[in-house]
Amino acid sequence: MPSLPKTPPPLAPLLGAHMSISGGPAKALERGHSVGCTAVQIFVKNNMQWFAKDFATAELEAFANSSYRPAIVFGHTSYLINLCATDPVTFERSRAALKAELERADQLGLPFLVLHPGAHMGAGIDTGLARIVESLDFVLASLPKGRCKVALEATAGQGSTIGSKFAELAVIIDRCRYPKRLSVCLDTSHLFAAGYDISTPKKFWNVFAQFEKEVGSTRLAAWHLNDSKAALGSRVDRHEHIGKGKIGLAPFREIMRSEQFSQIPKVLETPKGEDLAEDRVNLGVLRSLL
Ligand SMILES: [Zn+2]
Ligand SMILES: [Zn+2]
Repeated sequence: MPSLPKTPPPLAPLLGAHMSISGGPAKALERGHSVGCTAVQIFVKNNMQWFAKDFATAELEAFANSSYRPAIVFGHTSYLINLCATDPVTFERSRAALKAELERADQLGLPFLVLHPGAHMGAGIDTGLARIVESLDFVLASLPKGRCKVALEATAGQGSTIGSKFAELAVIIDRCRYPKRLSVCLDTSHLFAAGYDISTPKKFWNVFAQFEKEVGSTRLAAWHLNDSKAALGSRVDRHEHIGKGKIGLAPFREIMRSEQFSQIPKVLETPKGEDLAEDRVNLGVLRSLL
């Protein structure tokens, strides 16, 4: 009997959450699989420490050969890194740490690492932007064979953080000598706290049109799907469970349903306990919007 052509299954949305690498990077994939992630974000080392000992060969093998591999795994850099720090020790460490993390990401085969551009610490946005560009040039020049890209994350604008305006991300990409190695990560809670009102479908698409115009949607590497505890324009970075914060469900529905984002990974960074129960709930809410 001739075999009938099979209808391909509907493309699963690239959806998941940030997962802990405690116990080794392969453990993150196992955790992600246990809650049905098709996309997983990880730190490439303990994010509260500047440097880590090298991956053991066994750890890398366990990660590469994991049977729990989602469609995409990418990384997030340590929160300690500040590429425009005014303190010279932090500044040097930040550059060295970013380089080391990009090398670790290449060992794991991650396509990109999400990076908070930096905080100018009172030096001013222009000085901060210039130092970030200089630092990215320095780090990327030191890794001529590096494959992992840097995805600059749009921030909430808390304190002196840079990147709460699309125009600031555009300046970094524009001035960097390696624009092909840069992309962007958008976080719904950061956009909202930074003053980009995405609380209705129309407003969401207006904001996205602005992103398209100032940065370009081809730069978009990932979405962070978080609701916001903090108000519109508050510049406070506080993640909340989907549908429980100040944003409402509208932008999440648009992001989940739009064909434009079907191949863009979408991950949660919402609070959770070790049993990942909250992830199950939040992922369920997001899938129900499809
Ligand atoms: Zn982030
Ligand atoms: Zn955040």
